[in-house]
Amino acid sequence: MRIYLDHNATSPLRPIAQKAMLECLGKPLNASSIHGEGREGCKKIEQARSQVAALVGVDPKGVTFTSGGTEANNTVLSPHLQFGSEKRYFEKLFVSSIEHPCVLSGGRFRQENLNFLPVDENGIVKLDALAEILNVEEAPFVSVMAANNETGVIQPIEEISKIVHEANGFLHVDAVQAAGKMNIDIFEYEADVMTLSAHKIGGPQGVGAIVRRSPGLGIPALLKGGGQELGYRAGTENVAAIAGFGAAAEEACLNISNDDRLQKRLEAGLKMLSSDFVIFADEVARLPNTTCFAKIGKKAETALISYDMAGIAVSSGSACSSGKVGPSHVLQAMGFEGDLALGAIRVSTGWNTVEDDIDSFLNVTRRFYG
Ligand code: PLP
Repeated sequence: MRIYLDHNATSPLRPIAQKAMLECLGKPLNASSIHGEGREGCKKIEQARSQVAALVGVDPKGVTFTSGGTEANNTVLSPHLQFGSEKRYFEKLFVSSIEHPCVLSGGRFRQENLNFLPVDENGIVKLDALAEILNVEEAPFVSVMAANNETGVIQPIEEISKIVHEANGFLHVDAVQAAGKMNIDIFEYEADVMTLSAHKIGGPQGVGAIVRRSPGLGIPALLKGGGQELGYRAGTENVAAIAGFGAAAEEACLNISNDDRLQKRLEAGLKMLSSDFVIFADEVARLPNTTCFAKIGKKAETALISYDMAGIAVSSGSACSSGKVGPSHVLQAMGFEGDLALGAIRVSTGWNTVEDDIDSFLNVTRRFYG
């Protein structure tokens, strides 16, 4: 039996999501058709819209389905936005330097208008620097993730939001990793828009969502064509995937507990094995499912192979950028270079992880790091 500890890369499909998907597969559910089959597809999408909306405390009208977190982020990062009948233009985009590559790329902003916000040694956006930078900007567009995929570090979104709105700016929060792992409420955050991805919460891959705090916010469609998703995202909806997303969101929402027992067990175990283990950002608020650690002199690549041969799936830094040899941009932005950054291993637990998985992981760690 393999042990899967890489939920931040992708989480196994929850049985309830699989069931919801199977109920759709094999049926011709084109939600734009007005016949019975079409109406059934439409009903499934609207049910999922309510389930996803409940996960982040928003009106279902504010939810637009996309093909994943990457498409959602690329759509949202748009210099042209509409607020009711008012059109607004945001010239500059400010993103934190630890964002996922699909945000770091700047979406639809011109590259010369893309700016990076500094983070401290824990990977938290420097609020003083943010205030100083935005002080001289007119209507800045800011994008900061709720929690980091590599370290699990949680950003002070409420405070960031205040600073951004005082500067007459607009705030996007990439909540792809935070959703389902901690309580997130778009109104408490006062984020203008958030983005989500199904496969990080036990839904299927290839489906995500844009969540607008005010349904009156207009974001120009990235994919133009038919009038699906109220014109915000063209293309026949993947009804099965959307239904799976909805079911996963509902179950994830019911099970958010901030329970960090597995994380504590893992980190206490690592510290018992050797005081040379460094757990990145362990002094600050992190997702209860993520631990990123390293030991000087041990390369992550070799460790990953040893874990894999022992039947354990973990990741080095971000799985989205795996294959690239080099320190992760997140650890670099936090000031880690060299051996320590190259040794970073990420363990991320999820809905089906149990204590025995952690103990097996620690046993293999003892053998490898010895
Ligand atoms: N944003 C963050 C923080 C992520 O971790 C990821 C994926 O790892 C994405 C966006 C992209 O989401 P998707 O895989 O659905 O395109």
